[in-house]
Amino acid sequence: MTFAWPEVDWVLLDMDGTLLDKYFDDYFWETLVPAEYARRQGLKPDAARRAVLARYQREEGTLNWTDVDFWSRELDLDIPALKAGIRHLIEVHPDSEVFLQFLQNLGKKIALVTNAHYKTLDLKMSHVGLLGYFDQVISSFDLGMPKEEVRFWQVLADQLRLDPQRTLLIDDNEEILQAALRFGLKYLFFKAKPSSQAEAGISHHFPMISRFWELMA
Ligand SMILES: [Mg+2]
Repeated sequence: MTFAWPEVDWVLLDMDGTLLDKYFDDYFWETLVPAEYARRQGLKPDAARRAVLARYQREEGTLNWTDVDFWSRELDLDIPALKAGIRHLIEVHPDSEVFLQFLQNLGKKIALVTNAHYKTLDLKMSHVGLLGYFDQVISSFDLGMPKEEVRFWQVLADQLRLDPQRTLLIDDNEEILQAALRFGLKYLFFKAKPSSQAEAGISHHFPMISRFWELMA
């Protein structure tokens, strides 16, 4: 597809699933945490997994969802330490760095915009070494609300002084894209292959890309 790059000043990129392989997060939350919880509570793996997944569900779309300190308290586990223990599994999607270089060459302003907690952001960015590409790095914890809220985009736009009509957002979460659309961001793409180990997702509302090179034609 040919994308109208001259129409865009700011490019907003999500971290988990968009630039980084979501396999890390899926493995961490769906396998490692339930296993550690089972061990700590003396539960059978299945029972522990059901209990943990039910708790996740209650917090989806809120800041608690990505608040590692919240989950440490909630599950009585040291979540940051567990994450750090598997940091070697943190992977960048194969074409993320090339895409960031491409955007830099075009002279675009680039922002990393993530719901991730500071501790997760620091761990991941220090591991993958992409921080130098971003003009701005924004965690939802800076703004006090998750990207699923329309107001998030309003506050972000004010803060970056960006023109919503000249801004592109790429994210693997459709609810987040919906919020950005309702605020008035013009260019929205759904990243359809967040994890290297899982099936691609589908969006019924937004143009989809599986790889960044589809935008580099
Ligand atoms: Mg994501």
